[in-house]
Formats: sequence, C-alpha cells, structure tokens
Amino acid sequence: MNEPGSGPGRPGATLTAVATGELVAAIDFGSTHINVAIGDALGRLVAQEHVEIDTHALTEEAMDAAAQGIASLKSGCGEQLAAIVAGIPVHLNRRSGIVDSTIQSGWLGRVPQSELSRRLGQSVHIENDAVLGAYGELIVGAGRAHRDFCYVKVAHGIGAGLVVGGRLYRGGLGLGGQVGHSRVPGRSELCRCGRRGCLEAAVCVPVIQAQLAVAHASPPATRTEEVGRLGRPVWSTGRPLAGQWISADEIPVLDDAASKHILAAAGSTLGEGLAPVCNLLNPTALILGGDLGGSADFIAGTAAAVERYSQPGIAATVEVLSAELGELAELTGGLRLAGRLALK
Ligand SMILES: [Zn+2]
Repeated sequence: MNEPGSGPGRPGATLTAVATGELVAAIDFGSTHINVAIGDALGRLVAQEHVEIDTHALTEEAMDAAAQGIASLKSGCGEQLAAIVAGIPVHLNRRSGIVDSTIQSGWLGRVPQSELSRRLGQSVHIENDAVLGAYGELIVGAGRAHRDFCYVKVAHGIGAGLVVGGRLYRGGLGLGGQVGHSRVPGRSELCRCGRRGCLEAAVCVPVIQAQLAVAHASPPATRTEEVGRLGRPVWSTGRPLAGQWISADEIPVLDDAASKHILAAAGSTLGEGLAPVCNLLNPTALILGGDLGGSADFIAGTAAAVERYSQPGIAATVEVLSAELGELAELTGGLRLAGRLALK
C-alpha cells in the first residue's frame, strides 16, 4: 500500500489538529464521587472540580451537582460548549437509552442522556465510566503502546473497557465489559447483582476495606503525601481506600505485611477472573485503574494469577499495568472523546 501522499493527484499535506477557542466538557460519575472538567477543543484539561457524593443513592442530586459544576467552570467562557461527554457507573442499553440492570441503584430506569441534556441545556453524550477510562488510557495513558487491551476499573465495583484494533469495543447493545459479574471458581460471596460468586463480590473497595480493618486494630500510620497539580492528593501506590481512617489530604501508607498480603491476594483473585478474558481476546495489556489500580502489590498479584491461569502462550504476551492516568482516567477519556466529537 502506498504511503500517504505518494499516490497520484495533488500533493498531500500532513494535517495536525489545532485547538480552536472552543471548549468541551466532561463529567465522570463514579459510585462515590463526581469529577467535572472543562477542556480545550482538543480535550486537554483546562479546569476541574471534584465532589464526594454517593451517586447511586443520590442520583438526582449528583446530576444537579454535575450541571452546577460545569456551569461554574465555564462561567465567563462564553455560551455553548462544543461537546459534553458524561461517564456513568452503570451500563446503558444503547438501543433503548435506559439504564436497565438487576443492580439496585438510583440510576436504574433512568435515561441519562435526556436528563443530563435538560440540565445542561445542550446534548450530552453518555458512556460507561470504564469505557471512558479505556479511551483516556488509549489516547494519553498506558494504552498508547497497545492496540488491543482491556482497561479494568477496580473501585466500588469492577467494570472493564475494551480496546480492540485500536478502537473502543462496547458490545452489541453497549452492555459489554461487565467482567465483574463473571463467576470466580470456588467463590460464593453474595453480589449486588443478586447472584453469588461474582468477581466484584470478592474484589472491590468495600471488601478490601473490611479486610484491612480486620488486620489493623488501629489505623495504620499516616503521612501527608505531596499534593498533585490539581490540588488533590497524588494517586500512587499505597493510596487510601476511600479514606476510611483519614482526612482527605492524608494518605495512609499501607506497606505493612498484612496489608501487602491482602492486596496481593485480591489481585490474585482478579487475575484468575481475568484469565479467561485473556484467553478469549489475547490483549497485549491489562490496564488496572480505579482505587486499587495504584497498588503495586495488587498489580503483582494480578500478574501472577494471569500467568498461572491463562494459556501459557497468551500469558507470556500480556502486560499487567497500572493506569497511567490514575483516578483521572475516566475524566481524561471523557474530555478527549468530547474533543473528538467536537470535530465532527
Ligand atoms: Zn454480580
């Protein structure tokens, strides 16, 4: 095949996208937080806000807060935004536009596209949050070197975003990536989906918190870590697990033997659950995000189990990586996707 510009006709030119003066916006609804941001026309971060809220219990309030956050960030920046993308911590049936699941949540039965568009006064594009995390890592994170990878967000639940051939893969109705509800052999914990033995019933933030609390009669020693450029604690190995013992600006360093064992064992369970995904899709990377994706012990436990339970030839070709964008993967993906939508 000819290289670009080598064929007949007018001489070609390499085009580089240049940011116009337009702005885009993204909303990342997690289970217990909202991140909102404004970006330039290419989806590069301009300003960001963070709100702690249970979006499953207070869904109306969360959508109100997100709309207010966007409004305050863009005040003085003109009128309409070129595009807005929102990620939600549940799956949307893309045919009906309705959140339809057995998992009880305030999102259930809603039509987020119309409810958020009404609040923001313009059309909002909706995605699952893990899909946005995958997109963020694909464009500017650990996925840049990979065309086929699985981004797994491990937080209050487990969700996955797939990149196949360099493109997002959402499944037939947009319901793909729910690997958290795959059964892990030998497990019988009751899952919030109503079944037993699901991966996320064995590995998620509340479960790990409970295990850490049992192993620590008193809170682990804490120290204040450096504060990131966005004014929030840097997401790093040993990050707090939803701040059970600590204030928001202090990070407990969970590097004692019991904590390391708990995190490695949780990673091992995750790796066992992801091994069939590796056998099916042969991703060249598993990129772990969410609260647990920053733990080196968790990553190491996952990698060891993937190596043990995947077909050997496949296991040898899969890298298990921490999300480069950390807790901002979903928000970054939302901004970048909004930038792409704004070009259309
Ligand atoms: Zn389940």
